[in-house]
Amino acid sequence: MPDTIDPSLQHAYKEVLRRNPGEHEFHQAVEEVLGTLGPVVKRHPHYLAERVIERLCEPERQIIFRVPWTDDVGQVQINRGFRVEYSSVLGPYKGGLRFHPSVLLGTVKFLGFEQIFKNALTGLPIGGGKGGSDFDPKGRSDTEVMRFCQSFMTELYRHIGEYTDVPAGDIGVGAREIGYLFGQYKRITNRYEGGVITGKGLAWGGSQARTEATGYGTVVFAQEMAKHAGLGFEGHDVVVSGSGNVAIYAIEKVNQLGGRVLACSDSSGYVVDEQGIDLELLKEVKEVQRGRVQDYATARSSARFVDGGSVWDVPCQVALPCATQNELDEHAAAALVRGGTEIVAEGANMPCTPAAVRVFQQAGVLFGPGKAANAGGVATSALEMQQNASRDSWTFEHTEERLAAIMRRIHERVVTTAEDYDRPGDYVFGANATGFVQVADSMLAMGVI
Ligand code: NDP
Repeated sequence: MPDTIDPSLQHAYKEVLRRNPGEHEFHQAVEEVLGTLGPVVKRHPHYLAERVIERLCEPERQIIFRVPWTDDVGQVQINRGFRVEYSSVLGPYKGGLRFHPSVLLGTVKFLGFEQIFKNALTGLPIGGGKGGSDFDPKGRSDTEVMRFCQSFMTELYRHIGEYTDVPAGDIGVGAREIGYLFGQYKRITNRYEGGVITGKGLAWGGSQARTEATGYGTVVFAQEMAKHAGLGFEGHDVVVSGSGNVAIYAIEKVNQLGGRVLACSDSSGYVVDEQGIDLELLKEVKEVQRGRVQDYATARSSARFVDGGSVWDVPCQVALPCATQNELDEHAAAALVRGGTEIVAEGANMPCTPAAVRVFQQAGVLFGPGKAANAGGVATSALEMQQNASRDSWTFEHTEERLAAIMRRIHERVVTTAEDYDRPGDYVFGANATGFVQVADSMLAMGVI
């Protein structure tokens, strides 16, 4: 039993381990939250008496389904689809779909669990859920991706709806996949129910700034952290991991704020560009050509590609992990500390291992957990739902301002809670406690649910 968890919560954690064997990422996500809630349940013991924690650890509904489809050579392929509808006390289940070969039920549960508290932090009326499949879109033709998405939605459609469950994108699910998924939902239901999925194209119900939102929001959050600590942001060297949706728009916002991104990565390695990452070239390589970061280095003389290796070996003042879970371990964290890193903000979900987080906290590095730092994506999805419900569409400037205001408010809520519990600067505690209390109180108000 991890000694990070308060004795009053250990029974709940043991039950999670017993009922969900082998789901290590899910265990990790639960441990991270329960590991911070000791002071909260001490102050509010009725959460224990009412067994709120045990209730919250059990998803309201878990759906697993077969996804059969035919590839371009006529071969039948079988994938597994998931949707974990975790908590609907604050609103319809809300959270993305991940298409990646590593996706298992435990992956979706870890993401769904995190999503409950993240969505609460946004202050918007959205519950928590997550879904996905072990389908790998990499190397598949557009028509194969379309057939897969159509088959996936042929099952998923019966579980979702604008008042029930509203999926969006995540790793491997971008504008192309959202289009195919929405198109099939519309055909099956014969309804133009825009609010059933977010991340839609701008011409058919999408929101301005949704594509940019997670990356932009992460950088706005990091900037707030810097401001709060009396540090600057302009002129800083930044390293971003990944080169997908979150990473690209984090880089764009860093550039806008006067920082310089020296390196980014994908699963094959990383590129270092001493002149700063050329965003237009990166977008061309990743978004248009669907290429690799190595192709970026080939096209740019100031850049070099490092095959394998860790992008965190590149010294920087600000580190933004924006790729995937557990990509930054204690060794990488130690390398960052040695390189002078002052701020880490998670654009991805749980990219830093618990040991890495301890290294940052012990070294006095400001650490912004994903639940708070990357909440801008889902917040803007909720703004997309608002626009769909009112048959309206807002300008980019207005939407981005709303996003920035939400990120500032999340920062304020997290900092206030941490200070209230005499843990100034502990963003992990502040985020977990703020999200938890809001969800727990709402749940209790609704009876035994
Ligand atoms: P994308 O699929 O657009 O990009 C993922 C990026 O991470 C790719 O560059 C991918 O490289 C890279 N990557 C994946 N695994 C590894 C690895 N093991 N080592 C190094 N790089 C890796 O996904 P998103 O940008 O949408 O999502 C990134 C993260 O942000 C995820 O954790 C997601 O859950 C989180 N997130 C996303 C939100 C959104 O709005 N999209 C909202 C909130 C959180 P490769 O191409 O080689 O696989």
